[in-house]
Amino acid sequence: MDNNIPEIEQLIKQFSKLPGLGPKSAKRIILKLINNKESMIKPLAKILTNVYKNIARCTDCGNLKLTDKKCTCEINGNNYDKICVVENLADMWVIESANIFKGHFHILGGTLNSDEKYEQKNLLIDSLVKRIKKNNLKEVIIATSATVEGQTTAHYIEDVIKNDKIKISKLGQGLPVGGEIEQLDDGTLVSAFKNRVPVATD
Ligand SMILES: [Zn+2]
Repeated sequence: MDNNIPEIEQLIKQFSKLPGLGPKSAKRIILKLINNKESMIKPLAKILTNVYKNIARCTDCGNLKLTDKKCTCEINGNNYDKICVVENLADMWVIESANIFKGHFHILGGTLNSDEKYEQKNLLIDSLVKRIKKNNLKEVIIATSATVEGQTTAHYIEDVIKNDKIKISKLGQGLPVGGEIEQLDDGTLVSAFKNRVPVATD
């Protein structure tokens, strides 16, 4: 494949940014696409355009929603008292598919480093505070990863939301140090959820 064609070069550059793909695997995917223009590139281009136009991230809960429709967090109103805070959508999906937690999620959209201010990261922490107040939530389960960034984020959230009434808990036993939620097997996740530990708020 001639990498010097600007279109191909751009495509390789974009694909190489995807998680798990380096330039080599990006090239393999692109080659496959080019060889199947009608059956792969055409529908893919259409789907991507549709997703770009019609799907957005809800600025209240961080979940995906249709651009012109209300998000489920708004539709469901305030008939829940527990919320599970996760770093990203993939984390919510693994927790959902492991059937551990059936309630409502709050998707932050990333993590903090110890030297960063959250304003710079565009994380949905202000909206978490708003949801807690608006729905009078009783429990917040912080299910961030056991990485330095995940724990820094958890501490920051605890500081921001703690008050006398709310129960804050974090995933417990079984969560390996450095473990990312997305990478955990169902058994480990279930155990970490069951053994979630209350966070001391003083
Ligand atoms: Zn929402």
